[in-house]
Amino acid sequence: MGRVLIVSNRLPVSVSATPDGSLSFSRSVGGLATGMASLDSSDQLWIGWPGLPSDHVDADQQRQIEQRLAEEHCRPVWLSRTQVEDYYDGFSNKTIWPLFHYFPLYCIYEPHLWRAYQEVNERFARVVCEMAQPDDTIWVHDYQLMLLPRLLREHLPDAAVGFFLHIPFPSYELLRLLPWRRDLLDGMLGADLVGFHEYDYVRHFLSSAHRITGHEHVLGTLSVANRPVRVDAFPMGIDYDAFARAAARPQIQENIQTLRRRFGTGRTIVSIDRLDYTKGILHRLEAFDWLLSCRPEYRGTVSLVLVAVPSRTNVPRYQELRTRIEHLVGRINGAYGTLRWTPIHYLYRSLPFEELVALYRIADVALITPLRDGMNLVAKEYVASQEETGGHGVLILSEMAGAASELSEAIIVNPHDKHQVVEALHRALEMPAAERRHRNEQMQQRLRRYTVRRWAADFVESLAEVKARQAQLALRRITPELRDQVVEAYRGATRRLILLDYDGTLVHFFPRPEQARPDAGLQEMLRALASDRRNTVVVISGRDRETLQSWLGELPIHLVAEHGNWTRRRDGDWQCIENHGHDWKGTLRPILERYVDRTPGAFIEEKDFSLVWHCRRSEPDLAHLRIQELRAAILPLTENLNLGVFEGSKILEVKSIAAHKGSATEAWLHEEPWDFVLAAGDDYTDEDMFAALGDNAMSIKVGRGASHARFSVDTVEAMRDLLERLTRA
Ligand code: UDP
Repeated sequence: MGRVLIVSNRLPVSVSATPDGSLSFSRSVGGLATGMASLDSSDQLWIGWPGLPSDHVDADQQRQIEQRLAEEHCRPVWLSRTQVEDYYDGFSNKTIWPLFHYFPLYCIYEPHLWRAYQEVNERFARVVCEMAQPDDTIWVHDYQLMLLPRLLREHLPDAAVGFFLHIPFPSYELLRLLPWRRDLLDGMLGADLVGFHEYDYVRHFLSSAHRITGHEHVLGTLSVANRPVRVDAFPMGIDYDAFARAAARPQIQENIQTLRRRFGTGRTIVSIDRLDYTKGILHRLEAFDWLLSCRPEYRGTVSLVLVAVPSRTNVPRYQELRTRIEHLVGRINGAYGTLRWTPIHYLYRSLPFEELVALYRIADVALITPLRDGMNLVAKEYVASQEETGGHGVLILSEMAGAASELSEAIIVNPHDKHQVVEALHRALEMPAAERRHRNEQMQQRLRRYTVRRWAADFVESLAEVKARQAQLALRRITPELRDQVVEAYRGATRRLILLDYDGTLVHFFPRPEQARPDAGLQEMLRALASDRRNTVVVISGRDRETLQSWLGELPIHLVAEHGNWTRRRDGDWQCIENHGHDWKGTLRPILERYVDRTPGAFIEEKDFSLVWHCRRSEPDLAHLRIQELRAAILPLTENLNLGVFEGSKILEVKSIAAHKGSATEAWLHEEPWDFVLAAGDDYTDEDMFAALGDNAMSIKVGRGASHARFSVDTVEAMRDLLERLTRA
C-alpha cells in the first residue's frame, strides 16, 4: 500500500510561540492520531493548520517550523489570523456546526465567511496537490474541509480520496436552510468514499444528495459523473486497551487513591465534555438540581464532578454559555451545599489522560447527555475504563449521541426529558452490581473489537475496494484504442446490423417524454449510417409507433416500437408481431390514475400494448415510495394476464410479455449472415437485447452498472461520437 495523506483542520502537533519568540511543539494523543498511527501504510503525511497564524511568525520561523514538522511527518497549511477567524471561528463554527447539530437559530449565513471557507479549502487543496504522489490515498477529515474532496478531484482525477465527517449529518429539512448546501454536497461527492459515524447520518446524506443534486443511490453507491461514490457508516472506536489497562499504571493508581480519599464513601456522578452548547450541560445541571430537590436522600452523599473543557473561546456563544453554566453551578452549590459536602465540583480545564482515567474509574455514574453529538468518545472511554473494576459504573447516555446505537446497554435518555434523566440517575445509583457488570461486559465486547485502529483500517480498506470497483468498470469502458478496433471491424465488414435503443442511448432523458425529439445532428447521423448499403440500421425502442413514425419515419431506417410489439421495415408499413389484446388496460388504468392524483408531477403514457406510469418530475422520495406501492397494488391483477410489471428509470411500465427486445433482436439476427453486429442501449429492457446477441457482437451499455453488454460508454455523447466515427469510416 502507498502512503496515506491525512488532511484535517489541525495537525496532531500544535505549535505555539512564547512572547520572547521561541517556539514550542506539543503532540496531541487524541483518538484520531492513534487510529492513524496504526494504519498499515508504508508512510504517512499529515496535512493541516499548525495552530499558529502565519502573521504571528516571520519567514525564518516558518521554515524552522516546517523543518521540525517534517520530522513528525507533518506538513503545515499556513493560514492568516483573519482566515482562521472567518473560516474556523466563522463559517465552520458559526454556520456548519450549529446547523449540523440542529441549532438553526444559532446559525449565521454570511457571504464573507463563506468566501473565507472556500478560500481556505482551496489553499488546503493546493498544498495537498503539491504533496500528493500517484499511489497515495488521501483521507480528508471533517466539517472544516467539506469542499476539499471535489477540489482535489478536479486536479487529481484518479486519486483515491476518502472523506469522513465526524459530526452529525442533519436531515434535509435542516440542510436546505443553508444557501451553500449544494456546494457542500458537491464538495463531499468529490470523494470516492464518504463516511459517517452512524447509519442515520448516511440516510440523511443520501436523501439530501438525492433532493439537492439529483443523484440516486443503489445500496449506498451513487454515480457522480459516472464515478461510483460509496457512502457508508464507520462508527469511530477508541484505543480500547489504553483505557481498559490504564489502572495498572502507578501514576493512575495514585490519582485513583487521591480521588477516593477526596470523595470517601460518597458516590460520584461524572460529566465530561468540551464546553459546547450541543453537549446539554445546562440541561444536565437542571436535572441534577431536580434530583437533589425531589430525592433529598442523595443530599450529602452524591456529588457531581463537572469537567468543562475550554473550547472555541473566541466565539461569543461559548463565552455566554460559560457564564450561564458557572451561574447555575453557583446557585446549586449555594442552595444545597454544606460545610461537609459540595454538590458540584466544577473544573473548567482539560484533564490529562492520567487524571481523566482515574476519574472514569472512580465515578459510579457517567452522565453524558448531549443534545446532539456526532459520536461521543467519552462515553466509550468510560465504559472501557470499567473493565477491571468488577462491574462498577453505570453509563447514562443521550439518545442524541451517535454512540447510543452501539451502547444500547447504557441507560438511554432523552436529554430534554428532565424527569427521565432524574429517574435514570436514581436507577443508576441503585442498580445491583451484577446488572451493572452485565451491561458493561456487553458494551465492552463491542468496543474491544471495533477499536479506532480497526475503524481506520476499515475505512482505508473500503476506499481501496471502491477504487478496485472503479477500475473494474473502467476495464469494460471503451477506450480510444478499443473504439478504433470497433471502427476497424466495421470497415472490414460488408453485412452490418446496427441495433440502437433511443432514449438514454441516442438522446438524453427529459422531464417529459415528448421533449426528447431527435435533433438535426442525430437525424443526419442516422441518415448517413443508413445510406451505406452494407448497413441495416434499426432503432429498437419502447416508444409507441406514432412517436417513432413522426420523429424518425422519414429516415431510411427500420423501426421497432413498444419493445418489439410493432415493426416497420424501412419502406414498409407497421406490422404487429402478435396481437394479444389490451382489454386489461381498462382494469389497470384507474389504479394508475389514482396514483397520479396522489403524486404531484406524475402522469400516464399510453401505448398500444402498455401503460407507463411516469414520475421523473415528482419529488424523488415520494416517487420512489409510490412506485413500490403501485407495483404492489397492480401485481396481483396482472398475474393471469400475460403481463409484466417493470421498473425503469423513473417509470413503472405494465406491458405484455409476449414480445420484448430480445425476441425482436433474434428476429433481426436470423435475417442474414451478418459479419458485424453492434447493439447499444442503456436500460433494463435493453438487457434482453444484449442477452440475445452472440459473443462476437459489439454490445455497448450507455452508463454504468451491471449489464450483459461487453462494453460500456459513459454518456450519450460518447455513444454518438462512436456512431459518428462509423459514418466517416
Ligand atoms: N478529553 C481529554 N481531557 C478532558 C476531557 C476530554 O483528553 O479533560 C478527551 C476525551 O478523552 C475524548 C475527547 O477529549 O477522547 C472528547 O471526545 P468526544 O467525542 O467525547 O467529544 P468532542 O470533543 O469530539 O465533541
